[in-house]
Amino acid sequence: MRCSVLVVGAGPAGAELTRLLALAGVDVVLVERLPDLKRAAFSSAALPLEALDRFGLPKSVVAARWTGWDLLGPGDQHRRWDSATTQGVVLDFAALRRWLVAEAEAWGARVLLGQRALGWEQRGAAVHTTIQAIDGRRRCLVSDWLIDATGQQRALLGDPAPTMRPGAHELVSGVGLEWLVSVPQDCWQRWSDRLAFALGIDWVSQGYGWVFPMQAPRLKIGVCRLLDPSQRQPPLGLVLQRLLERLFEPQQRRQMAVLDRHGGLIRSTIHRREPHRRGRLIAIGDAVSTANLLGGEGIRHALTSSRVLAPLLLDALAQASTSQAGRRAAGSSPPRDPDGPLKAYPALLRRALGWRWSISGRLARRTWLDLRDRRADARLERLLTSLEQQRAEDLGALLFGYRFERYGARTLPYLLGWR
Ligand SMILES: Cc1cc2nc3c(=O)[nH]c(=O)nc-3n(C[C@H](O)[C@H](O)[C@H](O)COP(=O)(O)OP(=O)(O)OC[C@H]3O[C@@H](n4cnc5c(N)ncnc54)[C@H](O)[C@@H]3O)c2cc1C
Repeated sequence: MRCSVLVVGAGPAGAELTRLLALAGVDVVLVERLPDLKRAAFSSAALPLEALDRFGLPKSVVAARWTGWDLLGPGDQHRRWDSATTQGVVLDFAALRRWLVAEAEAWGARVLLGQRALGWEQRGAAVHTTIQAIDGRRRCLVSDWLIDATGQQRALLGDPAPTMRPGAHELVSGVGLEWLVSVPQDCWQRWSDRLAFALGIDWVSQGYGWVFPMQAPRLKIGVCRLLDPSQRQPPLGLVLQRLLERLFEPQQRRQMAVLDRHGGLIRSTIHRREPHRRGRLIAIGDAVSTANLLGGEGIRHALTSSRVLAPLLLDALAQASTSQAGRRAAGSSPPRDPDGPLKAYPALLRRALGWRWSISGRLARRTWLDLRDRRADARLERLLTSLEQQRAEDLGALLFGYRFERYGARTLPYLLGWR
């Protein structure tokens, strides 16, 4: 099989890029190892409302809306922030992937599910990719460009190689575990309109727990933490069990039905300076560290990477066909470099993510890795106390907009560990 662009991975990044390319009339193939996109819906998928508008996501992918925040901890403390208006949504992650893929197919993309990309090789200007079906059969796909959208696995691009500067490309990893549960209606009601986080070492050391609403009467309950080889970290399953025991009455737990258990890794470099490309292979989304470790959040950043790359790739494809025509027409001016437009991709993506993104990565490492003793709890408590006078909207600007400078004197010193 031959195509112009082969995209590997039908997460938000890969499915969105495929959709954009198909919309522009490009011959694009999307390969995904999952045989069914309903499976492995690992993401909690909380987003601020503006992302829904920015990426034109339909109502059908929204599982719940939220208007406020509950911050539990440290210890038994409980703080609430409410707003009269919707602040954000929790997506049905499986529905998001399925919608994006259906749109791509409707615009003419070919989608191959249940196919894993094993490896690739560039021969001249063509890329040969080996894919394997579930029954073990292998075949080769030939394309002009290959896109690694395999998320934190970086299945084709590979992890960034160490550089002369120690730590420059160091991957910081977080691991999350989440249950999708069904609960009695009155229990669901208590969590139905807010994002709730459990913070502090009594809840989750070096991480945090959460309860997010889904369609009634469902909730997503999860825990995550940064990986720290220097510490003995208890199994996440145990941490989640303790969270459940503390948040839900025995009666509620007995009536709780676990509908799905899932989880996964988030891995990003802090500075995002790793190569985004090898020859005709280009990576997007988590494969180039767009996931933000502070809030364990990456869907909108993965979508952003596709929005940045799509016009550059279209430009490169257009230049390649112009130079091909040029070569055929004798005496025409020398062709432009078809790879030219793509050179700007890493810088344009960095600009689109913004300078705050990079600061928040550094703060994430500091905040979560240090959260393992009473002193860290006390620092966290001082920060939360200082936020009590803020509105729910301001909390959103801090946690999703990374607008730390608005709290300069109060937040930055805490986050940098000076208090
Ligand atoms: C527990 C957890 C909770 C999260 N919660 C949130 C949240 O609340 N909000 C938020 O915005 N983000 C959240 N994230 C992060 C977010 O889900 C990711 O940043 C986002 O999904 C990245 O999108 P992506 O398309 O780059 O990669 P992915 O979504 O990881 O997609 C990669 C795709 O590639 C496929 N694939 C991998 N290897 C191959 C191969 N060799 N061949 C073929 N296919 C392959 C995979 O099956 C997958 O479908 C969470 C992540 C985790 C782990």
